[in-house]
Amino acid sequence: GRVRGDAGVTVFHAEMEEAIGRRHVLERELRHAVERGQLRLLYQPKIDLASGRVAGMEALVRWQHPELGLVSPAQFIPVAEDTGVIVAIGDWVMTEACRQTRIWHDAGHTDLVVAVNVSGRQFRVHDLTRRVRAAIDGAGLTPSCLEVEITESAVMSDVADAVRMLGEWRDMGASVAIDDFGTGYSSLGTLRQLPLSTLKIDQSFVRHMPDRAADRAVARTIVDLARALDLNVVAEGIETEEHAAVLRDLGCDLGQGYLYARPLPPADFLDFVSGRVPA
Ligand code: C2E
Ligand code: CA
Ligand code: CA
Ligand code: CA
Repeated sequence: GRVRGDAGVTVFHAEMEEAIGRRHVLERELRHAVERGQLRLLYQPKIDLASGRVAGMEALVRWQHPELGLVSPAQFIPVAEDTGVIVAIGDWVMTEACRQTRIWHDAGHTDLVVAVNVSGRQFRVHDLTRRVRAAIDGAGLTPSCLEVEITESAVMSDVADAVRMLGEWRDMGASVAIDDFGTGYSSLGTLRQLPLSTLKIDQSFVRHMPDRAADRAVARTIVDLARALDLNVVAEGIETEEHAAVLRDLGCDLGQGYLYARPLPPADFLDFVSGRVPA
């Protein structure tokens, strides 16, 4: 590394201490977040690119802390994974997402599929399948209304476990999407072994599609791969009409992004769905 002056080192230490201090606070406070009712879910619509219909929604967790304010999942999910609190958070997210989806089904939006994110650490919890099943049954939903999103990197870090777990979910009737697809290192051989329903094109490719031929080529390759493997394909991070047009031309099935809607509180999501698909 580069030699830094005393002042630089001092600043560095101060920043380190601040980061470590914040980490400790997050760890301590996160342990109580579920029982204190500080978590909530937002729902981002998934749009059928051909028809404009709302096909479903992704549940995205938020942590509202009285002093820390709104903490983003990018900050607290890694902490939750390291400390094991992710298991309790994951149970809460799954249960709450199923409960809310049942309410929307009862309101007449019976086709909505809810997507729930599952992190790498949750994956290694042995009774995850039973927990997922309990959330679905508890809400009185059919398993086909649930899609589990798991990142490509989490799957690839333990392929044998992934094949077993995904198989259990498929047998149950739930579907599985590989999230952030294109950023990990799956081999075609591995992909073929996995009982998947959906590939989700990472937003890093979508963002620069209009001006980068290479990113368009990656997106096209993922869509073609999905076709070949008989999977659905979803694009995330659609922010402009141009993004949507390129993806529609490629034959991408579903899309989500700020062009359509940000992640919404439940009441706003219902308004959004009702505007497009009158009950
Ligand atoms: P992800 O699963 O890849 O989710 C997509 C992220 O992109 C979300 O950030 C979403 O709000 C954001 N996004 C959606 N549309 C757009 C867009 O058009 N442009 C841009 N720039 N961003 C967009 P969020 O909600 O902050 O979540 C971040 C990550 O945290 C998620 O990435 C997921 O990995 C994780 N996460 C969120 N909720 C949960 C959860 O309940 N459980 C677990 N295990 N992880 C979660
Ligand atoms: Ca996701
Ligand atoms: Ca993603
Ligand atoms: Ca991501």
